Amino acid sequence: MLQKFNPKNQNIQIWVGDRLYPRTAAKISVFDSVVQGGDAVWEGLRVYQEGLFCLEAHLDRLLASAHTLMFDDIPNKNTIRKAIKQTLEANAMTCDTHIRLTLTRGSKITSGMDPRLNQSGSSLIVLAEWKPPVYNNEKGITVITSSVRRNSPIHLDSKIHHNNLLNNILAKIEANHAGADAALMLDNQGFLAELNGTNIFLVKDNRIRTPLPHACLPGITRNLVLQLCKINEIAYTEENISLSEAYNADIVFATGTMGELTPITEIDGRKILNNNTTYLFDEICNLFDNCKSENCTPISKL
Ligand code: PMP
Repeated sequence: MLQKFNPKNQNIQIWVGDRLYPRTAAKISVFDSVVQGGDAVWEGLRVYQEGLFCLEAHLDRLLASAHTLMFDDIPNKNTIRKAIKQTLEANAMTCDTHIRLTLTRGSKITSGMDPRLNQSGSSLIVLAEWKPPVYNNEKGITVITSSVRRNSPIHLDSKIHHNNLLNNILAKIEANHAGADAALMLDNQGFLAELNGTNIFLVKDNRIRTPLPHACLPGITRNLVLQLCKINEIAYTEENISLSEAYNADIVFATGTMGELTPITEIDGRKILNNNTTYLFDEICNLFDNCKSENCTPISKL
């Protein structure tokens, strides 16, 4: 297992609703929508020395997901920024921190699916933990292809960053049983969609390729990598990619807040052989590192 309990997180303060609670007292009601139906939206954010990485993009995506799901009393960005600030300050966290930001539809007057049973507005959770990037990006990760397909808009639009993560959890269970670090999920047509918790890219013939965002979360790290390619005139395409193309790519890598940019060394037992000795991935990693500070919002400015 890649993640372990960090004793530094034993006594953290967690924001629930409208105030902070110590870890052992930070609880939500059994009537909360996230318990009843996974009815919540979320973001994972990283705090570097320079501040919160891509904060505005994360807030935009959180609020867009909540708007799609028609939550009531959605807090504005300023309220969320203040809750994050208070949480980080209470924990003296200024770097090496991961924030799990969740907005639930809130508490119901009785159990049931109907959102009209939610009469007290949505509820914010700011869980900040000491947690450096989860993957070892020197070593890379291995993946297997899951039998579970990533949702397309005909089922549940993957552009909603919601807490109904069972598809991805089932895929991750398959990866665990296969002894791999993550699961590669395909779309309804059998093209690559993404990994269970990160986006996927490949490099072939000095060109960067990534699946169209039809059945993947349009990740913020993914968007940033595409933006960096554009600015630096690195050839890239968003297109349908088959498994065979992935097996035979020069480089395959994952992107996400959880692990930043992570090389994938093996897919379904096929080693990724850098036959064309491309250095494009190293170049993208350097560009990513160099753009970190300009994309960070200092905690003092929240
Ligand atoms: N795909 C999935 C399914 C995810 O849950 C995440 C992380 N929330 C990502 C991709 C990566 O997105 P981001 O770059 O915004 O962290």
